[in-house]
Amino acid sequence: MKKIIELYDNGHGVDTLGKCSPDQSLREYRKARELVRDIVAKRKAMGYDARILVPEDTDVSLTERCRRVNAICNQYGKDNVIMISVHCNAAGSDGKWKTAGGWCIYTSPGQTKSDILATSIWNAAQDSLKPYIQRFSTLKAQGAYDKRQVPIRADWSDGDPDYEARFAVLTGTKCAAVLTESMFQDNKTDVDFLLSAEGHNAIVDLHVKGVDNYVKSL
Ligand SMILES: [Zn+2]
Repeated sequence: MKKIIELYDNGHGVDTLGKCSPDQSLREYRKARELVRDIVAKRKAMGYDARILVPEDTDVSLTERCRRVNAICNQYGKDNVIMISVHCNAAGSDGKWKTAGGWCIYTSPGQTKSDILATSIWNAAQDSLKPYIQRFSTLKAQGAYDKRQVPIRADWSDGDPDYEARFAVLTGTKCAAVLTESMFQDNKTDVDFLLSAEGHNAIVDLHVKGVDNYVKSL
């Protein structure tokens, strides 16, 4: 097993406008920081070198986030570093509740080590989110989610479950890098889950286990 530096990025900052639930009960920057804080604490307790990429509460530019990751890559070697960016999804930006829901993970286009990391986290999500997955169809029947929604989203078009996007933190970083979108901050049922201890812990758990399985496979 190689020694890997795990960098956890928490999306956005306190000064980022609009990234919140319509009722303001959930703010993405804060939830991402709480998730990253707990993921990093667990990984450290397990003996791994896990670090918070953005300790500040204020927003840090995507360029600066990439610069920080690449500085660590240059110091330790890019094959010895991974980056996981933690976000909550949104279906719109008009401040209204929506009916999209679920969890997903992104990598940059093409097949790289990021895809292996993403698949490991995706597999862990199937396990850690089991209660959420089991409730989903009932909640959908009650109107919480529209009929196209699934609890764990996947794009199998290139043979693996991650979505691909040219997000700056994915294309601008040298190491294996993924971005998770844990539930929708503009879906009331998802927000209830994100704000519950059960939901918070399940999301922490899927990151911890997914990274653990990946790191142990190296
Ligand atoms: Zn975000």
